[in-house]
Amino acid sequence: MSSTTTTVTRSLPDPVDPMFADFFEGLARHRIVVRACTACGTRQWPPRPLCLSCHGTEFEPAEVAGEGDDAVVYTFTVVHRGFDPYFSRHVPYAVLVVDLAGLRLMGNLTGADPAALAEIGCGSAVRVAFEDDAGRTFLAFTPAAGATR
Ligand SMILES: [Zn+2]
Repeated sequence: MSSTTTTVTRSLPDPVDPMFADFFEGLARHRIVVRACTACGTRQWPPRPLCLSCHGTEFEPAEVAGEGDDAVVYTFTVVHRGFDPYFSRHVPYAVLVVDLAGLRLMGNLTGADPAALAEIGCGSAVRVAFEDDAGRTFLAFTPAAGATR
């Protein structure tokens, strides 16, 4: 009788695009870093080749948040069925889009038991967290203690 072991790895975003380099480098330091227009200071996420305010083309890194900073759920979904082998081991889990520092960012809710998933809603308070996995760091959020909708 033989047994086989299958290693299931997390699907990883492509960090090669230089527009995302500061973001991924920031995540590795557990900081959220976006690009800010050098002409007018507008921060934008996701990164784009042109500033949405002044059409400038030069950007610099802008740190907007770190571990434990407050964010508010703009919208969310709770995933109950994983189609990817890695994520199917983690269901149910919530994917959040949050408002933070004038930006909308996406990440998974971590550190929540399934009962906490039922409490999450639009307007819920969450905190910035980071999930280190597969040699990379992912943006995530945790429920804010005592958070209410
Ligand atoms: Zn600008």
